[in-house]
Amino acid sequence: MHIVVCVKQVPDSAQIRVHPVTNTIMRQGVPAIINPFDLFALEEALLIKDRTGARVTVISMGPPYADVALRKCLSFGADEAILLTDVAFAGADTLATTYVLAGAVRQIDRQHPVDIVFTGKQTIDGDTAQVGPGIAIRLGWQLLTYVSRLRSLDTAARRITIERRAEGGVQVLESRLPCVITLLEGINEMRFADMAGMFRAARYDVPRWDHTLAGIDDLGGAGIKGSPTVVAQVFAPTPKAVTALPIPGDTPRAKAEALLDRMFADHPKLEESLLDHLQTMGAAR
Ligand SMILES: Cc1cc2nc3c(=O)[nH]c(=O)nc-3n(C[C@H](O)[C@H](O)[C@H](O)COP(=O)(O)OP(=O)(O)OC[C@H]3O[C@@H](n4cnc5c(N)ncnc54)[C@H](O)[C@@H]3O)c2cc1C
Repeated sequence: MHIVVCVKQVPDSAQIRVHPVTNTIMRQGVPAIINPFDLFALEEALLIKDRTGARVTVISMGPPYADVALRKCLSFGADEAILLTDVAFAGADTLATTYVLAGAVRQIDRQHPVDIVFTGKQTIDGDTAQVGPGIAIRLGWQLLTYVSRLRSLDTAARRITIERRAEGGVQVLESRLPCVITLLEGINEMRFADMAGMFRAARYDVPRWDHTLAGIDDLGGAGIKGSPTVVAQVFAPTPKAVTALPIPGDTPRAKAEALLDRMFADHPKLEESLLDHLQTMGAAR
């Protein structure tokens, strides 16, 4: 079993500001972190590794300093890491990103056949959630999105059963391997790196693949050349003029009643529909 996990290094969005005059994103001094959703993907791969001895490879397309994110993944227990970095990859939109990532997965697959590609649900900077599905389409592999639980994995029959969050409920789907899976947050809890992992990661020389090493001969689909998206405008939303109001009352009960009074005043139909709901529940019992 061989699992590839796609990891993106992103600026910590909690610390990003939009310049009030130029409306450009101010990245100076903003620390880079592993996209938080990708840690769930990595942990899920490591859990499979714990159970089956699977090999886990992490890949990232990004600038040379993105090796820090990959090293961190190695400290948690990934077996190998590859950084896809090349001037020809720069300026990529989601389409061009999937072109390079899918190309790299094909190349890895030639060396060690790949069974599953895990991605996070989305990133906290681009936020499009397009990259996982894009990789699956380019590879021609099965795609399972918004996965909230892996129910079973039959390595002999090469089948996986998952739960995915769908509108109005949970779907249980079975798929053959190889497949691409995009994982929801909260599916697991990330482990801590141990000392041995940290030493190994510190010594690991992260291989850097340019387009030749990644087996991408046609550069027409990569980087700015392969990116049809045009960002027309970036702007910060207008701050809301709502101010916090103190809740009157000396006791918790008085405060709760005052809060309810205010909610019912702001939403005149709320009290009526709550009473209806309670009556329906009472009738049902
Ligand atoms: C015209 C244009 C130019 C751009 N130029 C640049 C640029 O020069 N530099 C730059 O950093 N960004 C650039 N971007 C942003 C970049 O295209 C996106 O960040 C990237 O395509 C991923 O999209 P996303 O963040 O929405 O990922 P999503 O689709 O939300 O991500 C889903 C999952 O895919 C995986 N994933 C996504 N991106 C990567 C990656 N790079 N490596 C490994 N796994 C990944 C992760 O597992 C992630 O959780 C540009 C965007 C546009 C539109």
